[in-house]
Amino acid sequence: MYKFKKSLGQNFLVDKNIINKIINIENLYNQHVFEIGPGSGNLTNSIVEKKPKSIFLIEKDYSLYKILKENFKYSEKYKILNGDILKYDLNNYNFKEVIIFGNLPYNISTQILAKFIKIKSWPPFYKKIIFMFQKEVADRILAKPNTKNFGRISILANLKFDMINNFSISKKCFFPEPKVDSKIIVFKPKDKINFNISNIENLEKITQIFFSSKRKMINKAFIKIFKNHKEISKILNLNLSSRPSELSCDTYYKITELYEKYKKN
Ligand code: SAM
Repeated sequence: MYKFKKSLGQNFLVDKNIINKIINIENLYNQHVFEIGPGSGNLTNSIVEKKPKSIFLIEKDYSLYKILKENFKYSEKYKILNGDILKYDLNNYNFKEVIIFGNLPYNISTQILAKFIKIKSWPPFYKKIIFMFQKEVADRILAKPNTKNFGRISILANLKFDMINNFSISKKCFFPEPKVDSKIIVFKPKDKINFNISNIENLEKITQIFFSSKRKMINKAFIKIFKNHKEISKILNLNLSSRPSELSCDTYYKITELYEKYKKN
């Protein structure tokens, strides 16, 4: 009898209607598909029925990997790896225009998303990402400025992606049933990134500084970052008594551009 591993976020999607809804987001026929954490293969089996050109699966749990390997042993189209997506070097994957699926393990879902955001070559090797998150995390990713959920992950995601679709999934659709509901988000990489940020880690650093004191005026963060903070706030036409959540994503990208030019040493 298989023992579910909570530490690996193992809640398997068992509702057939929802599985169909997810895999019908894109036409998978003759496409390259990449799936993170296929688990017992619930989503994978339905993907296979759509006759994609290739499927790449990466599963951390060795016992599930063995089952998947056995189930898909007759097809050349499948590559199955027993590994950790956070450690996997995406440069080893060769296809382009790929569709990526992941009912993600909740404890590392934002880290996985960040890995795909941080890919250096742009446009990236994938054309769509369809990820499932815990609902609260998805709401933070989708949040707009001036709302309580707006923060670092929304700013990071909006730099590289248009989030073109999302829908909620009840916790009742999983086995074992998790404590929280989920949400699917469909990410489409932007054709062109309109800001000249040379190192995305600088955007992470800037947002970390601003959002570590969410309720405080941005004045403090500005002083920390720039020698000439008054001048910079004028260039950006910013009121230094605003709060971090009142600034648009574009403003954070512009602050990062200026940071890369004028940062305090
Ligand atoms: N896709 C399946 C489904 O929808 O039923 C399983 C989803 S379950 C929420 C998450 C899966 O990711 C589990 O199978 C788990 O073992 C796997 N997993 C957890 N951490 C992982 C990691 N770092 N890299 C790859 N797979 C991981």
